[in-house]
Amino acid sequence: MSVFEAELKNGRFVISECPRCQKVIWPPSEFCTHCFGNTVWRTVNEPGTLVEYSSKDGKMFCMVEFENSIRVMGSLHDNKSPAVGQKIKISSCGFDKYPQFAFSPA
Ligand SMILES: [Zn+2]
Repeated sequence: MSVFEAELKNGRFVISECPRCQKVIWPPSEFCTHCFGNTVWRTVNEPGTLVEYSSKDGKMFCMVEFENSIRVMGSLHDNKSPAVGQKIKISSCGFDKYPQFAFSPA
């Protein structure tokens, strides 16, 4: 299991960043895709921004962008009138074959 997956299981959304290039490496990797150096893990900066949303069978799903580069999908809660551009926080996360996210308005 990668650091990324293990941290998600602990309820922390961490991303990898190259200290030399000062770039976020996404998808998460232990190595920088530019200089091949080791990356460091840190928690993502919140809130994110709502990019897209849809509903199916009474449940809402959305895509949220963090730090202008990282996009993740998840379920959307406590949001009666979602709007693209809305600030969104992570209410919970986990890992079960795929990253799992639950979002709510920030
Ligand atoms: Zn690098």
